[in-house]
Amino acid sequence: MNIGLIDVDGHNFPNLALMKISSYHKSKGDNVKWWFGLERYDCVYKSKVFTFTPDVESVILADEVIEGGTGYDIKSVLPKEIETMCPDYSLYPQFSEAYGFITRGCPRGCAFCCVGEKEGLESKQVSDIDGFYRGQKIIKLLDPNLLACIAAERILKGLSKTRAFIDFTQGLDIRLMDAERAELIKHLRVKMLHFAWDNPKQDLTSQFKRVKDWLKYDHRKLGVYVLTNFNSTHEEDLHRIYTLRELGYDPYVMIFNKEAAPRETRLLQRWVNNRIIFNSCRRFEDFDPKKG
Ligand code: SF4
Repeated sequence: MNIGLIDVDGHNFPNLALMKISSYHKSKGDNVKWWFGLERYDCVYKSKVFTFTPDVESVILADEVIEGGTGYDIKSVLPKEIETMCPDYSLYPQFSEAYGFITRGCPRGCAFCCVGEKEGLESKQVSDIDGFYRGQKIIKLLDPNLLACIAAERILKGLSKTRAFIDFTQGLDIRLMDAERAELIKHLRVKMLHFAWDNPKQDLTSQFKRVKDWLKYDHRKLGVYVLTNFNSTHEEDLHRIYTLRELGYDPYVMIFNKEAAPRETRLLQRWVNNRIIFNSCRRFEDFDPKKG
C-alpha cells in the first residue's frame, strides 16, 4: 500500500502518532512517505495535536483519509497495534532524541488541563523505556504525571540505567516528591527539572523547601511553571514568584488565555521569563518595560 502522512501542525516537533503509524505500515511492507499533493495514495493519515492549528484544506488524492489527534478530537486514540509500535525516528531526521510516554493519565483533574478527559484520571504505565528508546543521547518523556503512577520508583530506576539525559517535558508533580524519589532522580542525568505551582490557594512553600533540600540543585536546574490569569490575583502571582526565587527555584510564568490577560500579567511574564531582567531587577514594581 502507498501511505501518505500529513503533520498538520508543521514539523517543529516530532509527531509521535505519525512516527508510530509509519513504523506500523513499514512493518507490513507498505510504502510510507510524507504526503505530496500531486500523488495518489491508498491511505493518508492527517495528525493534528493543537486545536488552534488550521487544517490542511488541499484536495487529498486517496482512497481513505484518516484524521486523528487532540486537534481534531480530544478522545482520539491510536489502535493498540499501532500505539505499541516503536516510533519511526527516520521521519524527523532533524531531531535526535527519543520520544515517548511510559505512563498516561493524571488523577489531579486540574480545570485548565485536558489530560484527565483525554487519558483518564489515573496515571497508568503504558510502556517500558524499551518501547521507544533506541540508544539516543536524550530521552524526552511526554508523561503528564509520571510520579502519580504506582510504578514510579521502578520507572525512575529503569531510566537511570540508560545513562541518557532525561527530559521530563511535562514536569514533575512537586506534591508527589519524597526523599526516596529525590534520591532516584539524583541518579538520573538531567539538565533541568520542572515543577509547577498552578494553584495559589495551595501553599506549597514547605514542600518546595523540602525538595530543594533533598535535591540540592542550583536554581538554574530547578524551573517552576507559575500559572497566571486562571483564578489568581496579581498579588498571588507575585507571592508565588517571590517565594520561589527566595527558595532557590527559577519561576517561569505561563498565562492562561493570553489574549484576554490583563496588561499587568503580560508584563509580569516579560519580567520573570527574561532571566537577565529578572535577575537584575529584583522587584516587579521596579520593572520598566520601556527600558527592558
Ligand atoms: S497535574 Fe498536570 S497533568 Fe495533571 S491535571 Fe494538573 S496540569 Fe494536567
